[in-house]
Amino acid sequence: MRKLTLFFISSLCFSTILFAQPDRWQQRVKYNMNVDIDVNTNRFTGIQKLEYTNNSPDKLNRVFFHLYWNAFQPGSEMDVRSREAGGVIINGRPDWDSRVKDRISKLTPDEIGYQKVTSLKLNSIEQPMKLHGTILEVDLTKPILPKSKVNFELVFEAQVPIQIRRSGRDNAQGIRYSMSQWYPKMCEYDYEGWHPTPYIGREFYGVWGDYDVTIKIDKSYKLAGTGVLQNASDIGWGYDKPGTPLKDISSAKRTWHFIGNNVHDFVWAADPNYEHIVRKQDGVTLNVVYKKVDSLEKSWQTIADAAVIVLPYMEKRFGKYPYPQYSFIQGGDGGMEYPMATLMVRPGLKTEFHEWMHSWYQMMLGTNESLYPWMDEGFATYAENEVLAYYDSIMNIPPDEKQKALPVNHATGYNAYNFLMKQKLEEPLTTHSDHYNTNFAYEINAYYKGEIFLEQLGYIVSDSVRDKILLEYYKLWRFKHPNASDFMKVAQDVSGIQLDWYKEYWIYTTKSIDYSIDSLWGENGVSKIRLRRIGQMPMPIDLQLTFKDSSKEIHYIPLNLMFGNKPAESKEPFIVHNEWNWTNRTYTVEFNHPLRDLVLVEIDPSGRMADIDPKNNVLQLNW
Ligand SMILES: [Zn+2]
Repeated sequence: MRKLTLFFISSLCFSTILFAQPDRWQQRVKYNMNVDIDVNTNRFTGIQKLEYTNNSPDKLNRVFFHLYWNAFQPGSEMDVRSREAGGVIINGRPDWDSRVKDRISKLTPDEIGYQKVTSLKLNSIEQPMKLHGTILEVDLTKPILPKSKVNFELVFEAQVPIQIRRSGRDNAQGIRYSMSQWYPKMCEYDYEGWHPTPYIGREFYGVWGDYDVTIKIDKSYKLAGTGVLQNASDIGWGYDKPGTPLKDISSAKRTWHFIGNNVHDFVWAADPNYEHIVRKQDGVTLNVVYKKVDSLEKSWQTIADAAVIVLPYMEKRFGKYPYPQYSFIQGGDGGMEYPMATLMVRPGLKTEFHEWMHSWYQMMLGTNESLYPWMDEGFATYAENEVLAYYDSIMNIPPDEKQKALPVNHATGYNAYNFLMKQKLEEPLTTHSDHYNTNFAYEINAYYKGEIFLEQLGYIVSDSVRDKILLEYYKLWRFKHPNASDFMKVAQDVSGIQLDWYKEYWIYTTKSIDYSIDSLWGENGVSKIRLRRIGQMPMPIDLQLTFKDSSKEIHYIPLNLMFGNKPAESKEPFIVHNEWNWTNRTYTVEFNHPLRDLVLVEIDPSGRMADIDPKNNVLQLNW
């Protein structure tokens, strides 16, 4: 009995040390917003009541709000940056976002976007405001004390811009309103202080809280958005029961009331010609809201069917989806993630899985995207391709040509990264997402170098351990704004392998990996292969030997910086060699077969190591 108790206590301590809940305070918001939309002028007025809880240990003398739509004005920072990128030619193409180009500079007063806060009160006292383009600074007349709650009341006016980027009216598919970044939004204050990041073009960061949003709009419009519709029985249109029509009302405007809890943003979209498919899976209501075009009707149905199929897999691989609803809404200018919803221009499965996976890598595991775009875009891209592979396997869809390459499911990412390295335009992953020299480098870094980070982590610690790391990361860090070091700490704790070197090379630098097979020979009856590190970034090595009788062996050489080994990943014999000191350029592997039995030598046969010159990783022997 006593021994058992001791064992129980010691195992408890062990798990406490390894997986202690991180102690990181979070600010909290509670928005109550009422807006009245004029669909003729595309303008609206709104009242925002915002309860703000300062959970930080700091006294806040000022606060900041995002006014994103002020970016859609000639001469804005977004406009200047885009036109400058247009002057940079990469592979024969201007480096600007083809949706933005120089379009902002040409907007007329009726086409621009704006958000004007006409009154801002803190606990009923009017506050002085200073406008800096897309950021509103408020120097408070009385500070917000630590661990205290205050009430703001804002009155604002806005004009919905012509669709340029993400938000706006009348997008290319004719959706009337794509309403993202549409309200004055409190900037995030975290352990690093305020993040009043001007809206240049990409990436977001927000405060978790509850949104209660009431929208009054012309009665012909149909809406979908982040929250759960509260007055479904007044609205009809499938929100109350499947297949019901939009209810007829006598007044000119209809009121839609949504509540979204524990989210860090709120999106909605509206169009008089929307259609609505409703599905349910794992207790989650899945809405697909789109404009009817007969040639795409089947594809929108597929979006709904696929959502039902993949949700259980997503939850098993990446953690439970905690919200009551998710909506795929046609709108925007590509695919863009929001809490409990996405705006997508057309029905594509890759977009569907990518944006939905942002519910994990951004909506729950909300990194500061400006600082760590690769942790949301890269992780979402990794997960998107895993979900797609699962979907294809369920539907018996054979892999396309791209997917046949190694590593299966992520070959596109590795190819894109290699292409960037060849262009010599790489920048470290630590670059602020708005500060990249080129959109080209940002995109490949954030999406693909970030995707490779996880696939290659599987190479270093084994795929099954990497999968456990992702679940543990979800468990420990959801709703807590993790950073890169937080992820690495979880990865180390779960794997038992030191990974600081991986972070330092892959994230902080542009150093690359290149290993080669240098030579092989026999010596006193022992067969030897010398490997060479050509690149500056060191890695552990999987060396696969194939013999005349078709048998294979994996010779595994851990890197000394790891202070540990990964487990065997396949049924082949897995022979663990002494560690390779990273400072040494070469390493000699010895094995117990006659040299002439060897027919093939391969470094990393799985292709998960991002070796920029894989040609010298293979040696075919024709004795
Ligand atoms: Zn994304």
